[in-house]
Formats: sequence, structure tokens, C-alpha cells
Amino acid sequence: MTTLLIHAGETGAQAPGPRTGGVPLVPPGFVWPTCRACGGALLFLLHLPLDEDGGDGDRAEGGARGRGDVVSVFLCQNDPGMCDEWDATGGANRAYLFAAEGLAAPAVPAHGETRLGAVSALRTEEVDAAGFPEALDAWADDDAASLLVQGQLGGEPAWIQGDETPHCPGCAERMTFTAQLEEGYDFSTSANFGGGGIGYVFTCARCRDAAFLWQC
Ligand SMILES: [Zn+2]
Ligand SMILES: [Zn+2]
Repeated sequence: MTTLLIHAGETGAQAPGPRTGGVPLVPPGFVWPTCRACGGALLFLLHLPLDEDGGDGDRAEGGARGRGDVVSVFLCQNDPGMCDEWDATGGANRAYLFAAEGLAAPAVPAHGETRLGAVSALRTEEVDAAGFPEALDAWADDDAASLLVQGQLGGEPAWIQGDETPHCPGCAERMTFTAQLEEGYDFSTSANFGGGGIGYVFTCARCRDAAFLWQC
């Protein structure tokens, strides 16, 4: 079974469901991340609750990551392509694993490319297929339909360039694949993963951490 992420139209900037764009929902005391390369504020990319079916909350070890967790992803878009924002450890992107309890919208930095041009809802849909390419084929019977498919939740990553699963900075274990994401439904309001790239999200249940990278 593969859980696809499907474009579900525009939504509110603080919508609690899975979405790209808008403003992040973060715990108290959160400091908006900046880019290690250019120093600018990162763009908020993805709000992804893991409590949907297929969100792999059931597989959390020792309850360290359970239902109700949220992955939040940021990346530098101040000068796309110049900050190595594809790199999981380069400091030009940042991913977090938050407990959903008590999250709220922070103040958005006044300067920099901090928000996507649209807030796009994602919905999950389970497809009886062994992997992402097979699920895409099974779900989308034409080009218009395949454009709606924005990635997958859980399962196995469909790498463009080969396995780059990051090791957790906290415990050095291979991180758990959590989701992959297309650049966006409408390129005029999308993130840039190098042009037709795919973003990959990983988490470490033990360390309560997350990582992001993209390939194209
Ligand atoms: Zn940067
Ligand atoms: Zn770890």
C-alpha cells in the first residue's frame, strides 16, 4: 500500500491539515530559522501532520513519535540554487518534528523569501501499489491527474539520484523516510527543487528531529 499526497486546492495560511505554504505552526519560543549560507530567513515550505493513515505514527518506537506529531520544513529561496539548499546538512534548509499540542503561528520575518505564493492543501489517498511510481500510474490515468499527485507519505523513497538517506545528527542512525514532495502544483507559486525535483523528508523518533533534502 502506498499513501499518495494529492493536491486539494487552496487553503488557509494557518490550516491545521497537510499543506505547502502559508505560515508554520510552531511551539512557544520557536526562532524562525535562517540560512547558514546567505544569512537570510528560510521560506516555510511544508506543514505535515503525521496522524493521517500512512503517517507511520503506529510504527514509532517506544512511543517517541506518535500520532499527533507534525513535520515542518523550511528551505532557503532567497537566491535559489546558490545556497546548496538541496543538502540535508548544509544549513540552507531545516526540518523539525513537533508534538502537535500547543502549536501556533509565529511572527513571520519582515525580510526575505519566507512564504510561497500559494497555500495548497494536500490530502492523503491510499493506493494498492508497491511503491510511488506504481501508485502514481495506478491513481493517475492522464497527465492532468498525475499533476495533482504531490508526493507520498511513508513508504519507500522514489529517489531520482540514488539513496541519500541522511544520518541523524543526534544518534548517527539512518533516519526514517517520512514523505516525499514535488515542487508544487503550480510552478508560478512553487518551491524550486532545481526544476522538476523531489524533496525528501526524514525523521528520527528517538531524537525528535527531522531532515530535508531534494534531488533533481
Ligand atoms: Zn540562503
Ligand atoms: Zn537520532
